[in-house]
Amino acid sequence: MSNSSIFALIDCNNFYASCERIFQPHLAKKPIVVLSNNDGCIIARSNEAKDLGIEMGAPLFKFRELIKQKKVAVFSSNYTLYGDISNRVMKSLAMMIPDLEIYSIDEAFLRLDNIGFEEIFKLCEDIRFKIHKWLGIPTSIGIAPTKTLAKIANRIAKKNIAKKNIAKKNIDNLAINHVCDLRNFELQLKVLAKTKIEDIWGIGKGLTHKLNSIGIFSGLELRNADPKQVRKIIGVIGERIVYELRGVSCISLEEIKSRKNILSSKSFGRNVFLKSDLHEAISNYAVRACQKMRFQKTKAQAIYVYIRTNPFSSTNQYCQGKTYSFNQPTNNVSEIIKCAIKIIDEIYLQGYAYKKAGIMLIDLIDENYLQYDLFSNQLPSDKKSEIIQQTMEKINQTFTKNSIFYATQGIKRNWEMQCNQRSKHYTTNIAELVQIF
Ligand SMILES: [Mg+2]
Repeated sequence: MSNSSIFALIDCNNFYASCERIFQPHLAKKPIVVLSNNDGCIIARSNEAKDLGIEMGAPLFKFRELIKQKKVAVFSSNYTLYGDISNRVMKSLAMMIPDLEIYSIDEAFLRLDNIGFEEIFKLCEDIRFKIHKWLGIPTSIGIAPTKTLAKIANRIAKKNIAKKNIAKKNIDNLAINHVCDLRNFELQLKVLAKTKIEDIWGIGKGLTHKLNSIGIFSGLELRNADPKQVRKIIGVIGERIVYELRGVSCISLEEIKSRKNILSSKSFGRNVFLKSDLHEAISNYAVRACQKMRFQKTKAQAIYVYIRTNPFSSTNQYCQGKTYSFNQPTNNVSEIIKCAIKIIDEIYLQGYAYKKAGIMLIDLIDENYLQYDLFSNQLPSDKKSEIIQQTMEKINQTFTKNSIFYATQGIKRNWEMQCNQRSKHYTTNIAELVQIF
């Protein structure tokens, strides 16, 4: 835990629509929607499309009339393009702020602890300006002492409240040119009082209900709640969210539940040079991400895999990522592992000291939403691998975790976080007995 941290969450505005606009600038200020795989439902909208009342996740046919009438530009999802633009955004950010954690295809947390208090706002404006100038992507930035508060600040920044509204002095007027600075303590309290808990990162609908039942409705009420009591009701993550709202940074990105994207990433215990080690690591991260996805009964439309060197070392730097989109949304673990390994093969360059890898499952949709491809015979094999997966899950639930695993996950796993500071297992492991010389 640390309370001198400063985070900036940068989020690309209407990312997919903005990517399409780079190459079709005449669509600036025109309504745009982007469709899921197989053009089934609407997964992204420009602000103009939102203003028309087009709903997120709605099937295309529901708005077909309106789309025709209002001349809405419709795109099939192009994850190859979005992944590549995302990669350029992340690389550009890493050039400016090396301490960066990618959170989703269009969001990253920048750590600004060592930058002067007065300089941070200006720096964030500069980052926005450069990402727009270099790549044509508009962004919003929220600044705060914790990730959870930065996420709230970002929501305010995204609303793009113009300077002229500032006179009204309500909280919606906090953001200036898409940057919202929430480092001020009094301001945090004011904002939290007006923030509903369902809008807080990691709370979601299920937990909102539980918290409402004990009389917690606003962010301020959650902030002031007894962390131990919150822990009893919604678990340890809930307790950490309370501390985060108080300005104590204590949450890691992987702990936050999201219905839309799942991220699994971790730094290695040591520098990794071999492609085979990266294969093992990414297979393990893929399995972990898939467990979460299957638990919440969703399927992914695409995956994004990245590898990077240590930004704090003086060795040559390399950071590269790539997306892969599925013909059908999937939660098939072995299919996802296969794709992740294929991406590693494509982005791996020999000679670099890799320090981190990550996989992101993108644009998750309800597993009951199934739109089978009429011309593909994918169904039978799907069923078979589903049985395999369920059997594996049962075995691992019955016995210990990892009783059964995919061969690509490896056995030695010597890239894993090491516990060098751990004392020996003196009493339970014959190899670690006390030695007397
Ligand atoms: Mg975004």
